[in-house]
Amino acid sequence: MPTLSEMQRQIGELVVAKGHANSAQDVEPKLLRAFIELGEAGDLIKKGTKLIGIDEADSAQKHLEGIVAFLQPLKSESNKALIEHIEGQLELALDDISKIKRRKFPTEEEWADAVVEENIDALFYIIDSMRVRFPNKNLDEAFNKKLAKNMGRPYRYGESVIPV
Ligand SMILES: [Mg+2]
Repeated sequence: MPTLSEMQRQIGELVVAKGHANSAQDVEPKLLRAFIELGEAGDLIKKGTKLIGIDEADSAQKHLEGIVAFLQPLKSESNKALIEHIEGQLELALDDISKIKRRKFPTEEEWADAVVEENIDALFYIIDSMRVRFPNKNLDEAFNKKLAKNMGRPYRYGESVIPV
């Protein structure tokens, strides 16, 4: 597992290797990019449940196609209108399913991986912004210092609880 300092060093190597902005004056654009990545993560979380479900859609499609096939031989002059009505409804459901299947993530796991990746993107930019502006700061020490400071604070940082 990399430490923050190790991450900073590796990100620096990546920046140089890929020709990205690499001077102290690039700190602000890098922080802006971090916000953008967080926005991408937030957007995925917001849309989350609408982006998942391809596996379930596949299963539902098979069930509906089974019903369509089952109905075909049952069609006669006396029930033609009824069967055609049911077929029409099934077609609408199959259309909805094809829309679900065009979504981005087949499973919740893949959606979660995408959200995590956007957050990691943000972390790359945050760490890199500090590297270009304060190359001699030790991020591990800064983290430990801040953790100790926060641990020393009261429960919920002393925030008052509104009585019910
Ligand atoms: Mg991204």
